Amino acid sequence: LASWVGFSNLPNQVHRRSVRRGFQFVAMVVGESGLGKSTLINTLFETKLYQPKNIPVPGEDRGKTVQIESISAEIEENGVRLKLTVVDTPGFGDFVNNDESWKPIVDNIEARFDAYLEQENRVNRLKLVDNRVHACIYFIQPTGHSLKPIDIEFMRRLHTKVNLIPVIAKADTMTDDEISLFKQRILADIAHHGIRIFQPPQYENEDEETIQENEEIISKVPFAVVGSDSLVNSPDGRQVRGRSYPWGVIEVDNEDHCDFVKLRQMLVRTHMEELREHTNDVLYEDYRTDKLKAMGV
Ligand code: GDP
Ligand code: MG
Repeated sequence: LASWVGFSNLPNQVHRRSVRRGFQFVAMVVGESGLGKSTLINTLFETKLYQPKNIPVPGEDRGKTVQIESISAEIEENGVRLKLTVVDTPGFGDFVNNDESWKPIVDNIEARFDAYLEQENRVNRLKLVDNRVHACIYFIQPTGHSLKPIDIEFMRRLHTKVNLIPVIAKADTMTDDEISLFKQRILADIAHHGIRIFQPPQYENEDEETIQENEEIISKVPFAVVGSDSLVNSPDGRQVRGRSYPWGVIEVDNEDHCDFVKLRQMLVRTHMEELREHTNDVLYEDYRTDKLKAMGV
C-alpha cells in the first residue's frame, strides 16, 4: 500500500530512532466545512482512510459543538510500521456563534497530553503510547483577502499546544498571482498577531541537496493545496490524480500546479521526526511544566 508515502525513506539515523520508538504519528485537520479536509487526507495517504459518513443535510440538526473523530490505520512500508492517526474536527466554524470553536480542539489536544503524562508517571513506563497531536493542518479559505477572525482566534489559542501548519485550501480556485499575494498577506497577519506556526528549521550542516530541498519547503509556507482522490485524464493522455475543468486539468502531484507535494514531503518524509520532537521537547514539556506547577508539585 502506498509505497510512495515515504516514511521508510527517512534519513537513516532519524529512521532508526523512529523504528525504535514505535513510530506513531497523529495529524489533526481543522478548518471550516467544505474546505477539503477529508479529501486532502485521502490524497495524502492515498487510501480511503476516510469515508465521508456525515454529509450534512440542510436543516438537519448537526449537534451544537465541534466533533472530534479519530481514525487510525497501520501502514507498513519496507518492513517499517507506522501507526497513523488522523483526527478530524467536523463542525468547526459551522455555528451561528463560533466564538468557542477552538475550545473542544484545545481540550482534545490537552487530553492527549494528559494521557501521555499519566503513562510517564506510571511505574512501568517501558512502552509509551504516543497519541499526542504532532501536526495540525489548518485550512484557510481561499478568499484572497486576509485571515478571518476565526482563523486568528484559532491559531492564537493553539500555537503553544501544537505544530500549526496553515494551508490555503482549494488553491485551484485562485490564480498564481492571487496565491502569492494571499500567502504574503497570511504570513503578515500571522506575524502581526504573534502567532507561531511550525517553521521547518534551517539546516547548515547538511548536504547541499538536503539544504536546497528544505529551503524549497520553507518557501512554500503556507502551502497552497489541491486535493483529489480520483484519477483524471491529462491532455497528454496520462492518468493523474487531479481535478478536471473545461479549460484543463489541475494535477495534485505536479509541483507547477500546487504545493501538495511539498506538504506531503514535509509531513511524512523530511520533517516527521522534527514535528514529533518539537511536540515532545517543547509543546508537551511546556504543558507538563505548567500543569505540575498548577498542582503545586
Ligand atoms: P471537508 O468538509 O473539509 O472535509 O471537505 P471535503 O473533503 O468533504 O470536500 C468538500 C467538497 O470540496 C467536495 O465536493 C470535494 O470534492 C471538494 N474539494 C475537496 N478538495 C478540493 C480542492 O482542492 N479543490 C476544489 N476545487 N474542490 C475540492
Ligand atoms: Mg470532512
